Parts: sequence; structure tokens; C-alpha cells
Amino acid sequence: MKVYISIDMEGVSGVVHNEHTSERGFDYDLARRLMMGEANAAVEGAVAAGATEVLVSDSHGGNGARNLLIDTLHQAADLVTGFPRPLGQLAGLDAYYVVLLLVGYHTRSNAAGVINHTVHGRAINRLTIGGRELGEIGINALLAAQVGVPVGLVTGDELTCAEALDLLPGLETATVKWAVDRYAARCLSPRQAQATIRAAAERAVRGARSLKPFAPKHPAAWEIQYKDSGMAEVASQVPGTTMVQDDTIAYEAPDASTGFKTFTAALAVAAATLVR
Ligand SMILES: [Zn+2]
Repeated sequence: MKVYISIDMEGVSGVVHNEHTSERGFDYDLARRLMMGEANAAVEGAVAAGATEVLVSDSHGGNGARNLLIDTLHQAADLVTGFPRPLGQLAGLDAYYVVLLLVGYHTRSNAAGVINHTVHGRAINRLTIGGRELGEIGINALLAAQVGVPVGLVTGDELTCAEALDLLPGLETATVKWAVDRYAARCLSPRQAQATIRAAAERAVRGARSLKPFAPKHPAAWEIQYKDSGMAEVASQVPGTTMVQDDTIAYEAPDASTGFKTFTAALAVAAATLVR
């Protein structure tokens, strides 16, 4: 039984600031150890539930998605690390996995929550797919659904868990911190957070066969509002996209993975304007 664990950093207990999530941050070394602890807790839960193969994805963009410390990785798991890569936070996911666990995740842009954003906080203001505003939980649920894999667990702050339950009723959640502000939270101790994640991951894998993948909802219109009009202007050079507002592009995607490819290409050229 194959289990896929994608772990981001903003939703890890103790992480509340760019000083944690950036490789140049004062607290980055602490944060990556905390992230590794939560990843291993999820692996332990999956193995306890009978997983025979576990793939962990380092899904945080900081340091080029090379945040996890492989020298302390649980021996039952392999690690996908580094960037860029196809499918982003789900690199290597295919139809042979029984369930996807999203650990250390965060709320979408335009929603409250600790370090909320959608994929790129300085470039993307809003993403809607089929008329619904989605963040990283929603994007990954759609990509996984295309290969028939359900999301079984989301962990992070309490608002992230609520966003997940709103999109995917019936999945397991594990709250490891409570948002006080975008840059402040009441946090569980790492030991307690990891115990909570371990138990939730075990429940999620045991219950995986009764979960249904997110409805694919494609073909669908993808609409991306950027932080400024200059980003939209260069993003609209990607074939198949059109500008629909001064700061917004749109395109029709036949399926989630094609929509995500266009999203990724458009983001790369849009974000390139940040260094000017
Ligand atoms: Zn992240």
C-alpha cells in the first residue's frame, strides 16, 4: 500500500514568520527540524496503518524545496526534494497511491491564517478554478483527483483545517496551532504536534479506501490575479492565456494537470519581474 505525504512549512507548529520559512531567516534551522519531525510523524502513522511504501515530498518553496534533513528521514520513506519539478508539491504522485496526506499546509490567499498565501505570496493575489477561489489544498486535491487519489489528511493551523473540511468533507485533520494573527499563533509543543499528526495519519490511511477523490471539475476556467499589472502582462504571453483585467489572466484547461502546467509557466514569467 503506497502512501504519498506532501509537507509544506508554513503550517508546522512553531512556524509563524518569514524568519522561519526563508533559508536566510534567523530561525530557519529550527523550522526545518520541526518540519522534519512532523514529516516523520506522518510516516510513522502511515506505517502503523499498513503502508508498505511511503513517498515524502519536500513541498516548501524556500531553499529550492530542499528544506527537509534527509539524514533524519524515517527509514520507511523515500524523499522527493529540489525544484523545479513536474506536479510541484505532488511530484511523482500516480494512480498507485491509495491516499495523499498534506502536512504543514496553510490557508489560501485572501483568507485569515498563519502566513496565508497561494503558491507565491509576492506574485499571486487570487486563483479561481471553475469560479471557486482555491489555495494549495484545492490545487493539490484537483491534481490528485485526476489520478484517482483522495486527500486523507490536512494538518496546519485551525483555519487551514477548516478550509480543508469545507473543500473535502470527511477527511482527517490535525490542528497543531491556532492563528492569533498572520504572524502569530498559539502552538502545540513539537512532541504533542507530532503525536497528533501521527495518530491522524494512521486514521487517514486506515480509512483511505472509503474516501472519494475530489470531483475533477474539468474542463474549467482558470483565472489568476497577480499582485500587479506588469506580472499579468508578461504572464499573458503564455500561449492560450488572455488578459481579462489589467492584473488578471484567464484560460480554459481540459484537465487539472494541464491547467497546472499553464499556471506554473505563467507564474515563472510573472515572478521573474520581481527581480527587476
Ligand atoms: Zn511553503
